[in-house]
Order: sequence, then structure tokens, then C-alpha cells
Amino acid sequence: SWVNFSEYFHKVIDRFELTKSENITFVRKIPKEAIFIEIDEDKITQVLDNIISNAIKYSPQGGKITFRVRELADEIIVSVSDEGVGIPKADLAKVFERFYRVDKARSRKLGGTGLGLAIAKEVVIAHGGTIWAESKEHKGTTIFFTLPLERDQKDDWYDV
Ligand code: ATP
Ligand code: MG
Repeated sequence: SWVNFSEYFHKVIDRFELTKSENITFVRKIPKEAIFIEIDEDKITQVLDNIISNAIKYSPQGGKITFRVRELADEIIVSVSDEGVGIPKADLAKVFERFYRVDKARSRKLGGTGLGLAIAKEVVIAHGGTIWAESKEHKGTTIFFTLPLERDQKDDWYDV
């Protein structure tokens, strides 16, 4: 269904803001204007829930998590950045594979199954977007994903 992504993203973040520890700061860089986009809200919420839980899970005390939305001509880019342990370069693409976890001992301690980002990738691709990670070890990680705007515009035009 159609949602105003800016408003929707704020609501998702609000839910985490209520329960997060005081040691972690949230910074939101989200456009004030409405960005209308057609998404499966439950599925994208699942994607964001996992990305944000990961950011919190791997953040150090006093860490900052930054939420961004950038609107381009035909897509939006959503990102979540943390100041956590980071992901080694060799593992950057693999974290989107099922059950892949970077540090097995640490991951076991922090809980989870290693499915979150694999599911996120499936959902984003089903929406016509892409997902990737950028990271510097011991500096932090950013997870980006795109969602296309006005997905069916071309078809509508030529069908007239
Ligand atoms: P689940 O999401 O199923 O609860 P999980 O969080 O371990 O388990 P994913 O969300 O798929 O699984 O993430 C895969 C792995 O990628 C994690 O185990 C972790 O090693 C690494 N990872 C994901 N996000 C971050 C992050 N923000 N910082 C550092 N490492 C990360
Ligand atoms: Mg996860």
C-alpha cells in the first residue's frame, strides 16, 4: 500500500527510541516533506526491525545511530549507521547469506540465528530495490537499501 515514507520511518524509529538504553543516541536525517511510496509495510518493517536491532546490538556504550533517507529521481536510499565493531571487508557481502555470522562466539553470545539480513535482502529485492553494507572495522557499519519510486509509471504511460 501507499505510505508517506518519512512519517512511516519516524514511527518505526520511535518504537525503538522508547525501549533503547540511554547510552545510545539516535540521530534522524529524514526529509520533512512527504515521500509517497508503495511498499508492503509489514515486510519493510521486518527489514528495518532487523537492521535497527543489529545496529543496537553491535553498538558500544555511548554509540550514535544515524537514520537517513535520501530522495533521488527514481528511488529513495534508506540507511542506518552505527559506531560499532564493524564488519571485516571479506565478510561484507556474506552477511546477507543465510545463517552467516561474522564472529561465531560473539554472535552466539548476542543471540539470533543469522537470518535477519538474508530475509531483509529477499524483501528488498522483491520490492525492486538493492541492499548493501559499508563498514570500517572498529569504526562502524552502515546498511543501505533502496526502494524504487513510482514503480509502474512506465507501464501506465504506454498502456494508455
Ligand atoms: P538474527 O538477525 O537472525 O537475529 P543476526 O543478527 O546474527 O541474527 P543478521 O542480522 O543476518 O543475523 O546479521 C548477520 C551477521 O552480520 C551478524 O551475525 C553479525 O556478525 C553481522 N552484522 C550485522 N549487522 C551488523 C552491524 N550493524 N555491526 C556489526 N556486525 C553486524
Ligand atoms: Mg539480525
